[in-house]
Formats: sequence, C-alpha cells, structure tokens
Amino acid sequence: MFIGAPFLLAARDNRRMKTLCVYCGSNAGNDPAYAALARTLGARLAIDGIALVYGGGNVGLMGIVADAVLEHGGDVIGVIPQQLVDWEVAHKGVTRLEIVDSMHTRKARMFELSDGFVALPGGFGTLDEMFEMLTWRQLGLGRKPCAFLDGNGFWQPLMAMLDTMVRERFLHAEQRADMWHGSDIDTLLAWMRDYVPAQADKWLDEKRRSQLKLTSEDV
Ligand code: AMP
Repeated sequence: MFIGAPFLLAARDNRRMKTLCVYCGSNAGNDPAYAALARTLGARLAIDGIALVYGGGNVGLMGIVADAVLEHGGDVIGVIPQQLVDWEVAHKGVTRLEIVDSMHTRKARMFELSDGFVALPGGFGTLDEMFEMLTWRQLGLGRKPCAFLDGNGFWQPLMAMLDTMVRERFLHAEQRADMWHGSDIDTLLAWMRDYVPAQADKWLDEKRRSQLKLTSEDV
C-alpha cells in the first residue's frame, strides 16, 4: 500500500494521543464503503503510532479495523467479556486481549485505556457504548473526546436527532457541540489532539437544579 507524505506529517502531529477506542458494528453493513472506512482508519492509527482499543471481536467492522491496524504494524488492545470469548467471536491475533467478567467491566476498562472515542457505523452496541461515554462526560465523569466518523452519511439522522434534543430542551447546546462528526480522518485526529472539553452544565433548568441543591461535584 502507498504511504504518502500526509500520513508521515500526521504521524508527527499525533504523538500526544497514544490510544484511541473505536466502537463499531459487529456486522460490516450492506455497503463496502463501511469496510473501506474501517480499513482506512485502522491503517492510519497504525501509521500514526496510536494503539487501537476496541471490543476484541473478529467479526464485522470490528474485525476489519483490528486487522488493518495489525497489517500496518500497529498495536491492538481488545477488551472482551468471557461470554463473547465462549461464543468464539474473540480475535485471536491482537497484541493484547483482556478478558473481563461483564459488559459493564468492559466499558469501564475501555474508558480507562483510551485517550478518545470514535464511533464508526454500527448498531445497538456501538450506540450504547458511545452514548455511555457521552453520558458520563456530561456528568463530569471523564473529559475525553468523542467523535462520530461518517461514511455514506450514516450518522446524519442521529445528528439531526441530537439537534431535536437541543431544540426540545432535553440536551444542552454546548454538550451537543462537544463532539465531532465528519468523514475526514485528518480533521478528526486534529480535533482530538486539540480537544478542550466543554464547561457546560448537564441541566438546562436552573430553578430545578437549585431546588435539588445539586452541583456538578455531587454527581
Ligand atoms: P453492534 O453495533 O450492535 O454490532 O455492537 C458492536 C459493539 O458492541 C462493539 O463496539 C463491541 O464492543 C460490542 N460487540 C457486539 N457484538 C460483539 C461481538 N460479537 N464481539 C465483540 N464485541 C461485540
């Protein structure tokens, strides 16, 4: 595979980000563009010296992104519950496979290991994992960047839903803005590198908040 100057420049730029967690489908989707996106991201992480943290599976986009990192000489840390190992969906070739007791432990461990989080196209599992990170962050638990990497406009309806949440006053506009959505990997990595977390409150209704006498330190 041709590795051009942009990759090498980016490799210098991204030294501060050591690990990136990728949440993505355990299926590959119906369009080869999704697999291509996973491969490109995996190759780029390896070239930039960023270790992949992911769910440890050998299936769907998960297997594709992990294989791409490994093929380009990068490191892959899989974190997988024993149950999924028993179902034989664990990737046997990763740099390190951490087997944990539950899905909950896995999420916490992936959080600990990662400098940031990216969602590639996926289903319930991908959304669950990414939204848990966004939920923790808006409560002040963790200040790590969260991004949706798009292919085929897959995430656009979700972004529209988030805008609806803001409009209907279920989500703070600053929390909504405190994430990245796009399809360009250079821009994604630059955004992650320069990330400064928003200072926004979780609660939109100040009156209710003061009645409850809650501060962000209480949560
Ligand atoms: P989904 O988007 O529903 O396909 O679920 C994918 C996400 O859930 C991944 O990021 C994984 O962390 C987890 N997951 C779902 N299925 C598997 C599997 N077979 N092996 C490993 N992890 C899985």
